[in-house]
Amino acid sequence: MTSLTVTDTIITQARSEGRSLLSEVESKNLLVAEGISVTDAQLAKDADEAVSVAETLGYPVVMKIISPDIAHKSDVGGVVVGLADSGEVKSAYDEMMAKVSSVASTARIDGVSVQNMAEPGIEVIVGATTDPQFGPVMMFGLGGVFVEVLKDVSFRIVPLESRDAKQMVREIDALPILEGVRGQDGADLEALETLLLSISELIERRPEIAELDLNPVFAYSNGAIAVDARIVLHSQNDV
Ligand code: ADP
Ligand code: MG
Repeated sequence: MTSLTVTDTIITQARSEGRSLLSEVESKNLLVAEGISVTDAQLAKDADEAVSVAETLGYPVVMKIISPDIAHKSDVGGVVVGLADSGEVKSAYDEMMAKVSSVASTARIDGVSVQNMAEPGIEVIVGATTDPQFGPVMMFGLGGVFVEVLKDVSFRIVPLESRDAKQMVREIDALPILEGVRGQDGADLEALETLLLSISELIERRPEIAELDLNPVFAYSNGAIAVDARIVLHSQNDV
């Protein structure tokens, strides 16, 4: 008898609802099940649930809006970091609902995700998309303005070999930032290579995945962790 994996269950659930976009919580649950390091996020549907999730996780926590209609959560006031106790969680919930419903009044709101706040690190992006010509392609770059303004990113076709991962991490112009400048800690380049290889392997194993974004990943001098995740499935007819 074959047993359904967590990944199977999440994909089947989304498809049964006619959705191709997985929420942050679904994306992260899938990634955790696949052995990828993320800040584990739980769904809370009201302020009391948010508090009880926060109490089990321990403070500080981060709260984010969960809505199939909101792609960039921070643009609509849908991300609050550094919540230090239950009172802050409760008021952040109410403020977030008020803010989001005024800015994105037609968006369907499923609740919020509550997760541990990660230590600051160097922000990088790991992504995968499907190119009409080449098929699945991986992308790597620094987070923030470096990606958006400077287009300082590297690409490789899936499947990656370890040599590809090494090159992807090292061929961006911003490499000196990853290596550590002016006494600042550098990033664990091997951890980033391992992450790229794990995502490539996941994409190969799960052809249902059309897009995957870890934006950002916090890179540390020892290890790396994705704090935001977004997965888009191929529509069923494409696979
Ligand atoms: P979006 O990209 O949809 O606006 P993110 O989930 O990426 O929302 O959150 C926005 C920013 O908040 C991130 O770039 C990161 O700097 C910070 N952040 C998000 N989650 C965490 C977390 N768990 N720990 C620490 N910082 C976080
Ligand atoms: Mg993000």
